[in-house]
Amino acid sequence: MSEWDLTRPCVRNLTPYVPGKPIEEVQREFGLSDITKLASNENPLGPSPKAVRAICEAAEGVRLYPDNDCYHLRRRLAAHLNVAGGQILLGHGSDELIHNIGLAFVSPGEEVMMCSGPFSQYEFTAKLMDASPIYVPMKDFRYDTAEMARKVTASTKVVFIANPNNPTGAMVTRGELNEFMAAVPDRTIVVLDEAYWEYVDDPEYPDSLALVREGRNVIALRTFSKIYALAGLRIGYGATTPQLAAALERVREPFNVSSVAQAAALASLDDPDQVTRTRALNNEARRYLCREFERLGLRHTPSQANFVWVEVGRDCQAVFPELLKRGVIVRTGDIFGASTHIRVTTGTAEQNQRFIAALEEALAA
Ligand code: PMP
Repeated sequence: MSEWDLTRPCVRNLTPYVPGKPIEEVQREFGLSDITKLASNENPLGPSPKAVRAICEAAEGVRLYPDNDCYHLRRRLAAHLNVAGGQILLGHGSDELIHNIGLAFVSPGEEVMMCSGPFSQYEFTAKLMDASPIYVPMKDFRYDTAEMARKVTASTKVVFIANPNNPTGAMVTRGELNEFMAAVPDRTIVVLDEAYWEYVDDPEYPDSLALVREGRNVIALRTFSKIYALAGLRIGYGATTPQLAAALERVREPFNVSSVAQAAALASLDDPDQVTRTRALNNEARRYLCREFERLGLRHTPSQANFVWVEVGRDCQAVFPELLKRGVIVRTGDIFGASTHIRVTTGTAEQNQRFIAALEEALAA
């Protein structure tokens, strides 16, 4: 009997997560020391100095298990989001919360809806639960919420909407979401994954928490990985109705958020200037990248996030190594089903310029 025979059939259909290429790997492969990684939507400014101090202080206490309920952080987030403490979700990254949504709500054979070329964790969770992922094609790299509403059936248990979307950076507007919510029955849970919401500057961005407060079956997900630059600590959060939160609590691993992560997250919330600085840098970087793409005649999708989705007009797998050779790591579009696109995270002005110079050379190579 092989391992394969022992493996659940739905697990045989899973493919392991493919992360952005690590800096050290590129250093080793290409013998380069100075690498610009614009592949995983990380914050180039790094975490708040207050968070770094809190991490060092918390290190002293790692002999002990963390606070299982995240008491202080939960209270702080509840006040911040204007919901009750029991409505706050905390996870080992929002990835874990997505996984737990599958464990708590999705039964084999049910449908889990997402866009075509989705953020991989949605598809992974659906398949792991032996459910059917339903992919709804995008229109111009934007969610087609009208078509999604039409495709909802009696078996649709969860709908995942990344807003803004990864990898395209496009946003679902308040009007589109309201229409969608009006068409979706209560038996369907709508997950609004807002990992990049702090980067949005479009006034039409919907208020997911208002839907939660109205008692809709909505789960709003957010993270400390992106604008707060704590990706290495793995801490995500969210808010939902007390009932859905109680169900998620049943499937949660004990001590799923480390004491160091809890301390760093709390300290990060005390430093709104770090968020303001990062937003300003990102706005400038988005403008610069879009201007440069226009100069190079490359079509790109208007972005509300900290990355830009751009059509490079040739196989992304050919462009990728040319960029690597020049010390720049990006994300190829093929993993999202778009073989002539790349996704580039915004960096510092210097990193963005380096990327554009490398891209120009790569496209000429
Ligand atoms: N949702 C989206 C749309 C993302 O892009 C990411 C990060 N790649 C996540 C969720 C997961 O974030 P984390 O687990 O680091 O909180």
